[in-house]
Amino acid sequence: MSHLTNPLKKYYDGGYEWQPQKAPGVQAKMHPLPDCGEKTYRGTGKLKGRKALITGGDSGIGRAAAIAFAREGADIAISYLPFEEEDAQEVKHIIEHEDGKAILIPGDVSDENFCKELIKTAISELGGLDILVPNAGTQTANKDITTLTTEQILYTYSVNVFGMMWLVREAVPHMHPGSTIITTTSIQAYQPSEDLLDYAGTKAAIRAFTQAAAKQFAPKGIRVNGVAPGPIWTPLQICGGQLKEKLPEFGQDTLLKRAGQPAELADVYVYLASEASSYVTGAIYAITGGMLTA
Ligand code: NAD
Ligand code: MG
Repeated sequence: MSHLTNPLKKYYDGGYEWQPQKAPGVQAKMHPLPDCGEKTYRGTGKLKGRKALITGGDSGIGRAAAIAFAREGADIAISYLPFEEEDAQEVKHIIEHEDGKAILIPGDVSDENFCKELIKTAISELGGLDILVPNAGTQTANKDITTLTTEQILYTYSVNVFGMMWLVREAVPHMHPGSTIITTTSIQAYQPSEDLLDYAGTKAAIRAFTQAAAKQFAPKGIRVNGVAPGPIWTPLQICGGQLKEKLPEFGQDTLLKRAGQPAELADVYVYLASEASSYVTGAIYAITGGMLTA
């Protein structure tokens, strides 16, 4: 029985200390450190020759996808905010140390012009683009709609929804049959929390966009799928994503009684990016520790 791992105990299952950082946060300063598969993910060439852009690829879920894609043989471009340079450099170092290619393109995806530039730069640096993971996201908990600022509403929708749509719109004309797009929605699209009115709405919009885009792009041979994570230990959660009183118990209300780690999502991003999922489009994969999405 020693080869079996108990999912309840596979990763850290304790409580979390309050450790606020200015958004979007730096993963390197978190404790415990999120596990993005740096020491564990092993590739087998599933994405050999592929060219991928991952927004928010410096940390958390995007970093887990970036490391896994690179180890599967893809060339990678990642985008992030300049504030996160330390995390981005670490990802680049990990990938290049293993003879992979990692391009860093910092900038703000709530800016339409940057999204246009990002796609252009990624295509010219990678020599094409056939995997797009518009994963960048922002989340700020707020208990009371009367204090939810217009600035926050606009920013949350701009980063999570409009940025994603601008990136997909700019990328699709350059993508060939066999290309794949993977969005990051959330358990919040299915079980919205009382303190995430703006964020939950953006994640529901991403879910609908994913399913609509899958229909529109199917004739082009471009597949579009989404991942719906549950509570995952990433910078998003400590720089405003969770209220102070909720952070200690983060993830404990799932069936598996702990938060997930980004590393636990990597295989699904790889699957949806690769030819193994050739008959899958318009699907949303739940990785929620057992929280229901249906
Ligand atoms: P994260 O903080 O590691 O990643 C989010 C990334 O978004 C940041 O690294 C940052 O580079 C990027 N970003 C934020 N604002 C940006 C902006 N204006 N311009 C450019 N980039 C910007 O946290 P994460 O949890 O890995 O988040 C990744 C995705 O997963 C997000 O879309 C988030 O909504 C989603 N998600 C996370 C959880 C969770 O529990 N952590 C659950 C469901 C969905
Ligand atoms: Mg980050």
